[in-house]
Amino acid sequence: MVQINANYLKLKAGDLVPEIGRRVAAYQAGHPDAKIIRMGIGDVTEPLPAVCVAAMHAAVDDMGRREDFRGYGPEQGYAWLREKIAARDFAARGCAIEADEIFVSDGSKCDTANILDILAPGRVNVIAVTDPVYPVYVDTNVMAGHTGEAREGAEYEGLVYLPTTAENGFAPPLSERRVDIVYLCSPNNPTGAALGRVDLERWVDYARRHETLILFDAAYEAYITDPSLPHSIYEIDGAREVAIEFRSFSKTAGFTGVRCALTVIPKTLTGTAENGERVDLHRLWMRRHTTKFNGVSYITQRAAEAVYSDEGRRQVRETIDFYMGNAKIIRKSLVALGLSVYGGVNAPYVWVKTPGGLTSWEFFDKLLGEAHVVGTPGSGFGQAGEGYFRLSSFNSRENVLEAMARLKEKVRL
Ligand code: PLP
Repeated sequence: MVQINANYLKLKAGDLVPEIGRRVAAYQAGHPDAKIIRMGIGDVTEPLPAVCVAAMHAAVDDMGRREDFRGYGPEQGYAWLREKIAARDFAARGCAIEADEIFVSDGSKCDTANILDILAPGRVNVIAVTDPVYPVYVDTNVMAGHTGEAREGAEYEGLVYLPTTAENGFAPPLSERRVDIVYLCSPNNPTGAALGRVDLERWVDYARRHETLILFDAAYEAYITDPSLPHSIYEIDGAREVAIEFRSFSKTAGFTGVRCALTVIPKTLTGTAENGERVDLHRLWMRRHTTKFNGVSYITQRAAEAVYSDEGRRQVRETIDFYMGNAKIIRKSLVALGLSVYGGVNAPYVWVKTPGGLTSWEFFDKLLGEAHVVGTPGSGFGQAGEGYFRLSSFNSRENVLEAMARLKEKVRL
């Protein structure tokens, strides 16, 4: 009889999205005329930049000509793409990252999950996540057998949770318990907070002192508007020895349905083998990537390359400015309602403190019932997200304006 990976049985039901769907469907059934506006969307809503569409068309034509046809490409990604990434995303910001330290992939979700393949199985490493957290980091560690069972109150035994709340400015505190791995996401999903240079220096220093590996998720770096904030962990001295960085074209250039991302593993980064020997993580990831992955399609990589042209950068900026315009409207409207509002300045997510001691779900029901507006309860991202609520700026301007007008007119706080 086939034996299953029993770690999967430890997973708590991913109840956030289905529960939102259930409550919205129930409300709509009872109020068929209600025009519900979804402000919880974690996906982009604007079309691809025109330069990317043109590059894809041209690449399709290439594939139809014998002389330009491409079959399997390099698993790591074409050099012409990796060189542009190294130059524009890293060298331009003073980061010493070489093109061959970059691995192009089909998504950061997969990369943040797959990286666990090259780290010790079982409960060997002590792993820290922030609370609230992008749930993929937690669930993939559960699947890999890195945790114990889920405890009452939704935390997994064996993981270290670092609460990020208004009280600490949404900056994860250094773990009191020594950890081997820490996930940092900046700008953050869901809190919308972006870590400053001092926050990152503190973590890099911690990692160097404790031989901790930082898994740095910069999926939303393109949304940073404050020029003083780092976009990459490698802007911090010493990070090359302690950090892996994940980036994605999903939110930068609207590639959620195209699929392209990248992971940086500096050649100076090592882990420890059972016998104490230092081993290159780059080498291990290269082995994993070339064995289990056959590369991102040529057409997609040409689209990603187009993002780095002058016109591509202008078009990407324009779309991000549009979303950030939405974020500004959301922030302003919520502040005018007297709410405590965070995020939405260097990230597409606005994070609101629920008023009057309401739980995240109580506030969800209130907005749905009174304004027909749907957001995401903060408690769905972790215990420390209780009492918060996420609104997303990924939406049409029309929807954002209508939703905010309804909050002003209809919601009694
Ligand atoms: N990392 C964070 C923090 C995200 O919020 C998301 C998507 O919502 C991803 C990674 C996934 O990116 P990708 O589309 O490249 O898989």
